[in-house]
Amino acid sequence: MLNIVLFGPPGAGKGTQSEKLIARYNLTHLSTGDLFRKHISEGTPLGRKAQQYMDEGNLVPDEVVIGMVEDKLKNTSGTAGFIFDGFPRTVAQARALDKILEANGTPINLMLALSVDEAELLDRLLKRGKVSGRPDDQDPEKIKNRFAVYARETTPVAEYYQAQGKLITIEGVGGIDSIFARLTEAIEANK
Ligand code: ADP
Repeated sequence: MLNIVLFGPPGAGKGTQSEKLIARYNLTHLSTGDLFRKHISEGTPLGRKAQQYMDEGNLVPDEVVIGMVEDKLKNTSGTAGFIFDGFPRTVAQARALDKILEANGTPINLMLALSVDEAELLDRLLKRGKVSGRPDDQDPEKIKNRFAVYARETTPVAEYYQAQGKLITIEGVGGIDSIFARLTEAIEANK
């Protein structure tokens, strides 16, 4: 199994690079943002619970996120591994994930953290908001709140994996293919 946490702030390119990594290594994508958006579009109770948090750019409560991830992991079999995208976003989520994976004997191999400066991120998110219609990508105030939440709640997750010797930081600016080449180089050197 190859289990990778793809990490980075909103707009860092996690979704784009996930697609390419999945194709290269035959992995299963586990994006909590995508799973929530699917629940919202299907009008499920979980979607109703998550929506107000997402619209404001706040985090969905840990127990809701962890339950959903546990479910997805339980219901996926025969995969070569997972790309965790947008999860874990808090240290409590990281601990819960370690516990679940430990029980399966398939730990996280590495965290790849995409590094992009804030001005570039804001620019990318506002552009994405225009084409995707995502409400959280259209209002600069909501985007700034997401950056603040990221700095406060999510950056400690990188320290959590660094303490396990699993953190690799990747420059997330440049062409999509050159960033992908940096990611695969890090994977090949560490898998
Ligand atoms: P981005 O990385 O651009 O912020 P995502 O699709 O990963 O986009 O997440 C969108 C929103 O979904 C987040 O702002 C948050 O409200 C919610 N969300 C996604 N993943 C998590 C998570 N692991 N924990 C808490 N909230 C989450």
